[in-house]
Amino acid sequence: MAAGRQLIAGNWKMNGLKADGLGLARDIAARARAGTPACDLLVCPPATLIAAVGEVIAGSGVALGGQNCHAAEKGAHTGDVSAEMLKDAGCGYVIVGHSERRQNCGETDAVVNGKVAAAWRAGLVAILCVGETRAEREAGRAKDVVSGQLRGSLPEGADSARVVIAYEPVWAIGTGLTPTLADIEEIHRAIRAAIPSGARILYGGSVNPKNAAEILGLDGVDGALVGGASLKAEDFWAIAQACG
Ligand code: PEP
Repeated sequence: MAAGRQLIAGNWKMNGLKADGLGLARDIAARARAGTPACDLLVCPPATLIAAVGEVIAGSGVALGGQNCHAAEKGAHTGDVSAEMLKDAGCGYVIVGHSERRQNCGETDAVVNGKVAAAWRAGLVAILCVGETRAEREAGRAKDVVSGQLRGSLPEGADSARVVIAYEPVWAIGTGLTPTLADIEEIHRAIRAAIPSGARILYGGSVNPKNAAEILGLDGVDGALVGGASLKAEDFWAIAQACG
């Protein structure tokens, strides 16, 4: 992945059986092979498809990531996947601390901190998600919440080669709502001040082909973490085309 380029990451979440997941991966890989994307591309399929998607995208320049990992390397953790297993399956990245896991699985900053450390131990880049709820934004606490999440979730020793931050306001995920451009810039500035220089800061939350250019054109936005729109190759590609 080239330094200084924006990163467009697709979080497929719990979507995709073999036929549609591999079809999507094939379509994205074909576009990446045929064109010259002005950004780095990453897809994060569900765990069941990681290895097969890795084969499909091999040589296309599209990187592979997991959506979560356990803090431990191995052991009695039924149903979990370790960072080492993701690395072994071909991943270079793992998303940690997504708000759906913080909310649905009770992941605290301390738990997320352990997962970032596990990602680094395995040689993966951690994409650490932070973001405020609607109530926190309305209470004027967005910056404080994000700063607190960074302090709690980012272990000592972070450097730009091993961490990407994704600012994802919880209320913007999957809702079609986005913060104002000024609000995105303000939070990205606050994050920038708190993390190692050079680390990429992505925006995530209802990015689509229509709003991608204005969001990706903002100062301090180094790419996007894309959920719903990453499930259609055409839309994912259109967002990538809005880079640079
Ligand atoms: C996400 O879940 O990381 C996300 C950004 O979702 P969406 O693009 O669908 O809002």
